[in-house]
Amino acid sequence: MKVVQQPAGEFPQEEFPPKVPAGEKLLPFPQPVGVSYGYMAVSVSVLASGSRGNCALVATSSTRILVDAGLSGRETFKRLRALGERTEEISAILITHEHSDHVAGLQRLATKLNVPVFLTAPTHHAWSRAVRDEDGAIPELPKSEHFSAGRGFRIGDIEVMPFGIPHDAVDPVGFTFHAEGVKIGFATDLGYIPRNVPEHLRRCSVLVIESNHDLEMLRSGSYPWSVKQRVMSRVGHLSNDALAEFFSNDYDGGAEYIVLAHLSEQNNHPERARAAAEQALSGRQGLWHKRVLLATQAEVLEPIRL
Ligand SMILES: [Zn+2]
Ligand SMILES: [Zn+2]
Repeated sequence: MKVVQQPAGEFPQEEFPPKVPAGEKLLPFPQPVGVSYGYMAVSVSVLASGSRGNCALVATSSTRILVDAGLSGRETFKRLRALGERTEEISAILITHEHSDHVAGLQRLATKLNVPVFLTAPTHHAWSRAVRDEDGAIPELPKSEHFSAGRGFRIGDIEVMPFGIPHDAVDPVGFTFHAEGVKIGFATDLGYIPRNVPEHLRRCSVLVIESNHDLEMLRSGSYPWSVKQRVMSRVGHLSNDALAEFFSNDYDGGAEYIVLAHLSEQNNHPERARAAAEQALSGRQGLWHKRVLLATQAEVLEPIRL
């Protein structure tokens, strides 16, 4: 398993990455005040992103949370090992919604890792109904905890805030994570950006946000009309243009890293998504230095360390 090194792209990158002496570890900006060089406080790793499986890891030195479990158990373990992670150190699994690209490996992973699964009660119910076997028996999660959108909670030293998003699932959420003075935002699988979302995403150092499709590619592509309608709807997925509009109008510009996520493999092209985002960001004063990364389905994204 290869860890993807992001190309610098066409964005001005003159200060990044800084040159470091051979053998020393590169710590991305900003370096936390009072923390010695090379120390990792908080990290974000995207193991996979897209309609064939989503999984990410948010970690501090003492807490490691998997966000979604859309890969098989085996593939998740393989990708965690590629990141140098020890699976026995995973603290919990957090679920955004019950679509299979977010829960396909949930039962197996939760059982194998024997960790609590945090999800909303309606999502838990929908998942249970979907995984019922022929006799109607529902496989149990070893431990589950229910949360509600808008009510924060804590897992180890990470504060989690779930917030509602518009998507065709029973109770879909995005998350922000707060630890060591760093805030991280996750918002994928949303048909549009409602007013509450920019509020939640304010002051994030890392933003993992959906850039699902290029409208032209989707319209002219091979999907049946009904599927096209679903993807484009207010409870479908966010287009490159809709994300660009958010960056132009409602984004506070706080993030050091923006990860474009849940890209459609058929109806988008990574460079189209990147170009739309970078153009929107560069149109705003002071935002040109943001680093735009692309999460992919096939490979683990190089961890972002803060
Ligand atoms: Zn999805
Ligand atoms: Zn979904």
